[in-house]
Amino acid sequence: NRQILLDNRPDGEATTSNFKLVASETPALQDGQVLVRHHYLSLDPYMRGRMSDSKSYSAPQPLGEVMIGGTVGEVVESRHPKFAVGDKVAGMGGWQEYSAVDASQPGLLRKVDTTHVPLSFYLGAVGMPGVTAWYGLNEIIAPKSGETVVVSAATGAVGSSYAALAKARGCRVVGIAGGPEKCKYAVEELHFDECIDYRTHPDVKTLSKALKQACPDGIDGYFENVGGYILDAVLLRTNAFARIAVCGMIAGYDGQPLPLQNPSLILINRLKIEGFIVSEHMNVWPQALQELGTLVAQGKLKPRETVAQGLDAAPEAFLGLLKGKNFGKQLVKLI
Ligand code: NDP
Repeated sequence: NRQILLDNRPDGEATTSNFKLVASETPALQDGQVLVRHHYLSLDPYMRGRMSDSKSYSAPQPLGEVMIGGTVGEVVESRHPKFAVGDKVAGMGGWQEYSAVDASQPGLLRKVDTTHVPLSFYLGAVGMPGVTAWYGLNEIIAPKSGETVVVSAATGAVGSSYAALAKARGCRVVGIAGGPEKCKYAVEELHFDECIDYRTHPDVKTLSKALKQACPDGIDGYFENVGGYILDAVLLRTNAFARIAVCGMIAGYDGQPLPLQNPSLILINRLKIEGFIVSEHMNVWPQALQELGTLVAQGKLKPRETVAQGLDAAPEAFLGLLKGKNFGKQLVKLI
């Protein structure tokens, strides 16, 4: 069983030297446990937060332990009556090839149906990132049909699910993404009404001008994934009583400062701004997963994936995710 451990904490930007690849015996099972062979590992921006020991909403990843991570795979051995060899499952197996899971603990492992939804999608559109988009859109932004809603990191795992959900609610959906290829894909494949390439609008003034053109009726809802000057540019275009779901601020995860130029707009436009962590809202997961699975099965949500090959490739792929090198959900294929 090959594993990647967090070896030391980043000082500034994360690097591959923060990780260590080791090999160990495949774990022997105890009663109630199942052995899962991971097919895919999910790489997610939140992992950067766990690598640091600064104050956050959850405890840091301990040094010398397997990096935390979502996984999908197949049961290869079972000592639990509800799981059989061959079952496809999703869990939090971490950056390793196998995991022994205590299947009697609720929520640690769930069976997934791959009849209409590919296994890997349970780490993206029909998994945690999809539910994240669902929660921010429905529970915080709560848009009315015809309203204009915006999302940053528009073509990523969360952003692409957000577009499909917001279109289904009759919104005008505008994305912000990095590069012409991502923006073309956002409009042609993800059904965004428009997508703005922030790389060609590298400051508040030019980006807010582009937003004015793309959102002629102003912005009623914003799903924040990035932070920094992108947030400032959006604030300038918000309508009175707009709602902002603060999901992530990836532009600051490697230690960059995220100053806000126009905080007075929060008052002037009477904005509702609410941060959230999707794992604290488990009550909405069944409904959200149901809706996301249906959108995929109907062809209305066609998520894209960037797949790194083999566990060794995980650290490099993870650092790439923090720099926008991924195009769609970033995965590592392990088998
Ligand atoms: P993505 O698949 O969207 O990948 C990250 C993307 O962020 C990159 O592809 C890149 O897209 C963009 N990005 C990276 N660095 C920067 C930067 N400096 N400035 C602007 N954009 C940047 O990741 P996810 O969909 O998994 O996650 C999106 C956000 O949602 C993250 O902030 C994450 O932390 C957050 N999140 C929060 C959760 C919660 O419970 N609150 C749960 C899950 C995710 P581009 O090339 O377009 O810039």
